[in-house]
Amino acid sequence: MTSKLGRGALGLIITWVFALAAQSTEAAEPDLAVPLPAACAAKTDVLGLSRVVEIDTTAGPRFGASQYKDNAFLEDGEVVLTFDDGPAHKYTLAVLDALDAECTRATFFPVGRMALADPETLREVAKRGHTVGLHSWSHKNFKSISTAKGKEEIELGLSAVNHVLGAPPAPFFRFPYLADTKTALSHLETRNLGVFSIEVDSRDFTTRNPGNVLRNVVNQLKTARKGIILFHDLQPSTASAMPSVLAALRTGGFKVVHLIPKAPAATLPEYDAVLAKEFERRKGVVASAAVSEAAAGAAKGTEASGQATPKGDTPPVAASDGPKPRPRAKKPFWRPAGDDWQLRGYIGDE
Ligand SMILES: [Zn+2]
Repeated sequence: MTSKLGRGALGLIITWVFALAAQSTEAAEPDLAVPLPAACAAKTDVLGLSRVVEIDTTAGPRFGASQYKDNAFLEDGEVVLTFDDGPAHKYTLAVLDALDAECTRATFFPVGRMALADPETLREVAKRGHTVGLHSWSHKNFKSISTAKGKEEIELGLSAVNHVLGAPPAPFFRFPYLADTKTALSHLETRNLGVFSIEVDSRDFTTRNPGNVLRNVVNQLKTARKGIILFHDLQPSTASAMPSVLAALRTGGFKVVHLIPKAPAATLPEYDAVLAKEFERRKGVVASAAVSEAAAGAAKGTEASGQATPKGDTPPVAASDGPKPRPRAKKPFWRPAGDDWQLRGYIGDE
């Protein structure tokens, strides 16, 4: 117990960026790798960023009072905004726009497979200066899988986010369903990956009504007064609720703290190799499907122009005198289907 507390205390380096800067000039901004939007400098009626806290994840410290211990790095009235399960293009972008409008920052915990399915959106999250951690490879409940599978979920998830961003993410991990296990926690310790639980649950997965999301956050903060708030950026309710939630935090006098890592996560080469192979395999599957679709489209075009395709003949790919195949909408190369964390039947995730 003592060693855990000691490690937790040592594991934190608190950067009072704004507090120190505010002593010299009122207009000072937190020292961010990606600056806030230029318009933020002139805005006074926004939530903004209170300060930046650098987290040292050596030996896998754990945060979040709902499962671990009080977040000593947060003071009364301070919150950390977190978003799980994305990226999900439309809803993630709505969340990003709401955060930009209030000149504030958050931490995202993407699912590896979702990241591969929608890499541009995850890159946009990083580009806008938010911290990106990881939320496993395929959102399995660690309590119902083997130790080996749990390790794979962590490592492949990390390699996937690394692959998409082109750089290692923050060594910040959140368990799907917040379902930790002793063996997975031990593995995370050896890998210097910090574990982030929560204090406030928006319960956005239980509702499509943004008003409910707002009420859940505001009511829980009345008791908690500070903490890590959990949202899901693939939930329509959160995408719609975010402007009003951020406005409520502002008018309620809450301050947003931005978490950044002391050092990036380090992937394991063997999982990078597995991931790269999987990436190529799936790209290949989609490429051959595209060829078949193009051929089918060309065949249809020939029929429409009144020229029958002789049986057994290869349909012309682009007949100059027939209608051209219609360009197909650009699709993500891989959209995971039937996974339990997606919108359909998405109940029970924490
Ligand atoms: Zn989740």
